[in-house]
Amino acid sequence: MTEFEIIARYFARRSRTAVLGVGDDCALVRARKGMVLALSTDMLLSGRHFLPDADPQQLGHKSLAVNLSDLAAMGAEPRWALLAIALPKADGKWIRAFARGFFRLARRFGTELIGGDTTKGPLTISITVIGELPQRLALRRDAACAGDDIWLSGATGEAALGLAHLRGRVRLGGAARKACLARLHEPEPRVKLGLALRGVARSAIDVSDGLLADLGHVAKASRVAAELRWEDIPRARPIASCPDEGLAKECLYAGGDDYELVFTAPRAARARVEAAGRKAGVRVTAIGAMVRGKPGVRVRDSLGRTVSIPRAGFDHFA
Ligand code: ADP
Ligand code: MG
Repeated sequence: MTEFEIIARYFARRSRTAVLGVGDDCALVRARKGMVLALSTDMLLSGRHFLPDADPQQLGHKSLAVNLSDLAAMGAEPRWALLAIALPKADGKWIRAFARGFFRLARRFGTELIGGDTTKGPLTISITVIGELPQRLALRRDAACAGDDIWLSGATGEAALGLAHLRGRVRLGGAARKACLARLHEPEPRVKLGLALRGVARSAIDVSDGLLADLGHVAKASRVAAELRWEDIPRARPIASCPDEGLAKECLYAGGDDYELVFTAPRAARARVEAAGRKAGVRVTAIGAMVRGKPGVRVRDSLGRTVSIPRAGFDHFA
C-alpha cells in the first residue's frame, strides 16, 4: 500500500460540515455565527504514552479521546480533527482497527476528520481537534475565584491503577482489573459535561497528569489556593479496595490519564452544577474550595490536618 492508498482506504471520509475536507493542501472550515474556534493538539508516542503492543482499536479511541477531553475542559463543542500518524509499516489490519476506534468515537461526538499527514516511522500519533464555543463562555483555567467550590467529575485513579497492574506493581482481580484497564485504554471524554457547564462553572481543566498537578495549574493561573477535603474525594471501588493503600493514594491524587474534569463554580451555582452532571450522565462531586493564599493545592482531613501525598503528578521531563 502506498501512502495515498492508506489515506484513501482508511482515513478519507466526505465531510458534511467543513467547507473542504481531506484531499487538498488544507482543509477549510467556518465557525458558526457568534462562535470562536477552540484548537488543541496532543501527541501519543509508542513506549511513552502507550505500550508498543497496544490494541489498535483502543489506541484509535484513546488518541482522539485525550484530544476531545481538552475541548471538553474548555466547554467547546467538537467539530473537526486532523490526524498526523507515523506508521512503522503499512499493516492494513492494524490501520483498519485503529480507524475503527477513531471513527466510532468521532461519530459519537460529531467530529469529522478533515485532514492530516501520514508517514513511515516509529508509531506516533498526533491529533489536532477543532471545536467551537461562544467566546465569553470559555471555561478558562485562569478564571477560578477564592470562594469557589472545586468539583470533580467521576473519580480519579483507576487508569493509573490499571497501568500499575500492567507493570506488575499490583495484582488486580476480575472486576477491578476490567474496570481499571477500560479506564486506561478507552477513556471517556467528558464532552457533554463541558457543554453543560457553560455559563455554570467558572474554570475547568481535564485531569491528564494527576488531580493535584492539574488543579495546581488552575490555582496558579487564577492566583488562588486550592484546598481539597480528603474525605470528600470520590474513590472508585478498585481504589477503595486496593490492598496497597499507598499506591491507591498515589493513583487517586497523582495518577494521571483520568480525563475527568476538575472545575470550579461559585457556591450559588451548586444546584446548577448538579443539574449539569445529571444532564451529562456523570457524577459530579464537590471536593474542596478555592481560598485566598499562595497558589498551590493542599489536601486536608476532617480535623484540618494536612494530608501528605507521595507524588505530585506526571511530568515528562521531571
Ligand atoms: P501534502 O503533500 O499537501 O502535505 P498529503 O499528501 O500529506 O498532502 O495529504 C493529502 C491529503 O490527505 C491532505 O488533504 C491531507 O490533509 C490528507 N491526509 C493525509 N494523511 C491523513 C490522515 N492520516 N488522516 C486524514 N487525512 C489525511
Ligand atoms: Mg502531508
